[in-house]
Amino acid sequence: MTQIRFVQSASRFHQFPESTMPEVAIAGRSNSGKSSFINSMGRQKIAKVSGTPGKTRLLNIFDVDQRFWLVDMPGYGYAARSHSERGDWETMVEEYLSGSKNLKGLILLMDIRRKWSDDEAMLIDFAVSMDLKVVIGLTKADKLSKSRWLTATRNMEAQLGVPCYALSSTKKWGADTILEHIKKNWL
Ligand code: GDP
Repeated sequence: MTQIRFVQSASRFHQFPESTMPEVAIAGRSNSGKSSFINSMGRQKIAKVSGTPGKTRLLNIFDVDQRFWLVDMPGYGYAARSHSERGDWETMVEEYLSGSKNLKGLILLMDIRRKWSDDEAMLIDFAVSMDLKVVIGLTKADKLSKSRWLTATRNMEAQLGVPCYALSSTKKWGADTILEHIKKNWL
């Protein structure tokens, strides 16, 4: 069982504690199931499952098995956001993704039933340009039949050229595979 522990929140990357721990960033559109995914990794409910999409505006650091820090980035793509809020999000995320010396890669979560959007494309291009590894977690796979989620996963992988894994936080499967992928290939 994965041990996950909250370390600290920071509104900006320069507020991070001094550390040599490898870091893995996690991002996803609001309502993609990011909090549920983080909660499903451990035994306890550690990340707040948001009632209000886009509410969380901080970088939240979690220690995972004392092997790496999972850095939870604010959700994006919330329609009610103003232009300046969007700018703040981009500044925070780009500052972190380009500034951290310990960062190994990015987990990008998206609802398996949604189409790839410009926000996701921007984030993945930016991560790749920073030489970061990327893995896609396709959330809420329990909403589709097995044959449909298998097809959706294969199509997404072919389209994007990065590893994609279907998962369900509700039914508690898939998160372990992503963790194994990271421990084996990124650390
Ligand atoms: P966040 O805004 O990305 O942190 O998303 P949340 O974790 O708050 O989830 C958004 C909504 O999707 C909530 O109503 C969750 O219960 C639901 N949800 C999250 N993961 C799953 C999943 O794996 N399966 C299903 N069926 N619903 C999910």
